[in-house]
Amino acid sequence: MISYPSLGGTQDVFFSRAEVGGLPTIVAGDGVHLVDDRGRRLLDACSGPFLANLGQGNERVLAAMLAQGRQLSYTYSRTTRHRSNAELTRRLATLAGEGFERAHLTSGGSEAVEMTLKFLRAHAVAAGHPQRSQVVSLLPGYHGATLQTIALNGDIAAPALWGPLSVPSKKIPAPLTFRAQSPQAAATASIAAFEAAIADCGPERVLALVMEPIGGQASGANVPDPSFARRARDICSRHGIHLVFDEIVTAFRTGRFLAAHHDPQATPDVVVLAKGLAAGYAPLGAFLTSATLVEEVAAGPGFTVSHSYDAGPIACAAGAAVLDEVVERGLLERAGQLGDRIRRGLEQIAEESPLVGDLRGRGLLQALELVSDRETNAGFSETADPAAVVRRHALDYGLLLYSRRQNAGRFGDWLLIAPPLVIDDATADELVERLRLSLVAATDEVRALNAQRVD
Ligand code: PMP
Repeated sequence: MISYPSLGGTQDVFFSRAEVGGLPTIVAGDGVHLVDDRGRRLLDACSGPFLANLGQGNERVLAAMLAQGRQLSYTYSRTTRHRSNAELTRRLATLAGEGFERAHLTSGGSEAVEMTLKFLRAHAVAAGHPQRSQVVSLLPGYHGATLQTIALNGDIAAPALWGPLSVPSKKIPAPLTFRAQSPQAAATASIAAFEAAIADCGPERVLALVMEPIGGQASGANVPDPSFARRARDICSRHGIHLVFDEIVTAFRTGRFLAAHHDPQATPDVVVLAKGLAAGYAPLGAFLTSATLVEEVAAGPGFTVSHSYDAGPIACAAGAAVLDEVVERGLLERAGQLGDRIRRGLEQIAEESPLVGDLRGRGLLQALELVSDRETNAGFSETADPAAVVRRHALDYGLLLYSRRQNAGRFGDWLLIAPPLVIDDATADELVERLRLSLVAATDEVRALNAQRVD
């Protein structure tokens, strides 16, 4: 049983006592490794939550933050401007390309998703469409932990707890490929549900479809059939609905800056970023959209919603230095190549391990879904947490995994593999080998868990 100090304590004093027993205490970081108080060097297989893209201790980013702090530590973006804000947004707009000339900065992902909704609502009202407020999102899906982003999340259990405090989005099934008749069939079913949701609400009342172009933790890196985003794009354009890509996980990782860049036929109106944007060096998020859309609001009432830390100079300097590292070291292309390399190793694991039912993902965003029966793809009972069992075993092999069970296993159980973009080939191979060993070590314990079919 873990013991906490009588005053203060770490963030996990708030967690369930049943959950925290196995959490390692991290005392240092070094490249793509974290070091715990027992002296173990843990290879970070998921960059925290898809975030620490440059690993630990990047001297260029740290130096940029220090230099910025010495020159100007803070000034309020509501009453002043500063250069570091413009420097970061110029880089972002350059990387994002046409349709994303403007960037509104926040302190993190949930805030950036909420800021997007507020901006789009302000746009709708400014454009004479005050009836537009309904948001549509995918189930499962994840968009944050503020009250309103919780209401967007495709999480079956959330409404009972948080529902009374927020406005729910209309949920449509995510185009999940695993257990579907085919990826195309899943996309077709999701599109039919989207059309039905629009008809149900009335097209003139729908504000936006918010979706992850490739899933993060909520769907275990689900890569939808491309027809889903294309058809969603068409439908949105036809009805004046904004298409929002939450790229908080996918940006930087799939071989291009944005997942949206893979398909010019499905370009969203807004892209949301956070996590890898400052790669763990500062709290930073952003939404990117077109100069046209911003002008349409700015010419009228404007959009002045702000948080005190928005566009903070030190966070902006961190973000700009991260983007310089990403560009100058060719890390976007590298994510694609490394993804292929890791994927080959994961394919081998998926073939050999009796626990693995599916391997999916793109670039440096991969997931292994665990099943209790490879013939039927059955999942696990409500109380089991098979991926957490593997995560615990992995610590013995010096591997820090991110495991997830979605909605008590209703959508499945998976391990997410998304290491820092700076991992070298040999360490990437080591990651795969440690994962293989961890799965072997966990097999008996996982197989003993009560098996139950996932619908
Ligand atoms: N959207 C997605 C897809 C995410 O994965 C996350 C974070 N896990 C968020 C939004 C929320 O970001 P943050 O934790 O920075 O608030």
